[in-house]
Amino acid sequence: MSSRSVGYGICPRCGNRGVLIIKELNGGYYAYYRHGRTWHYIGPLPVVYEQVINSLDSEYRESLRRAITQVSAFHGIITINKHVVSKLINGIINIRNGILWFVILNALFYITAIISIHSEIISIADIVKVINALVSLTLTYAFLLNGFNTLSDVDNVKYGIGLGGTYLRMIGLSIVIVANVGYALSIFTLITATLLTIITGAIIIVSWVLIYMAILRLAKYVDLGKALKVGMLLTLMGYSLDLVPGINILSPLLQMIGEILMVIELGTAAVKLRNVGIH
Ligand SMILES: [Zn+2]
Repeated sequence: MSSRSVGYGICPRCGNRGVLIIKELNGGYYAYYRHGRTWHYIGPLPVVYEQVINSLDSEYRESLRRAITQVSAFHGIITINKHVVSKLINGIINIRNGILWFVILNALFYITAIISIHSEIISIADIVKVINALVSLTLTYAFLLNGFNTLSDVDNVKYGIGLGGTYLRMIGLSIVIVANVGYALSIFTLITATLLTIITGAIIIVSWVLIYMAILRLAKYVDLGKALKVGMLLTLMGYSLDLVPGINILSPLLQMIGEILMVIELGTAAVKLRNVGIH
């Protein structure tokens, strides 16, 4: 991590004079104002650029412009405009809505799984599983794909991985449906269906890893809370438990908690971005 002080100006956060510091972290650039020992975080530089340059004393503005040009030449970072900010917000909201639907579907599946365990009607859980996969498949198109498509307009290389994960997830879920329907219609034996389910489980885990990696790449533009990473970890643990026969009842619960954390954090990220995007 490197940091450089640019010059004096008025901190947009507290209105006091201070020194503008630009920090580099994992390829992202972040603006801070330092008042002695107190640091105020302003935001990711590409997003708050206009606000920050206007806050600087006029004699230091050229120095920031020069720094940005060097950065652009080196990392391919350009100052993002309102159009890009709105694309980022749109992308985040779509992905958030997609994950929000998974929370709802998981809750539904969890309730039916519990009911079917306590009753003799085991087939209910299987039917719900197929419906769940079908709805989830549709939502992949509706939200995740839409979200990553929008983000790919901003940076194709960075967010393409999320698009890849979304397609992979679609393939995985299609096989889940085929395996379950095939078993129900006695086309597949129990062993074939189980094997297919395990393979698709692994595919789905990989697809979520790709999707999460793309979401984490947003950190360049918006500060994502720690809860987001915790949420991702919990969901991945939940999906991994799906592969272990016998303790399936725990996995939807972990996925649900993890997904709720992600929904909250992505919502907060979208609001923050909206706030800095409007000067
Ligand atoms: Zn301040």
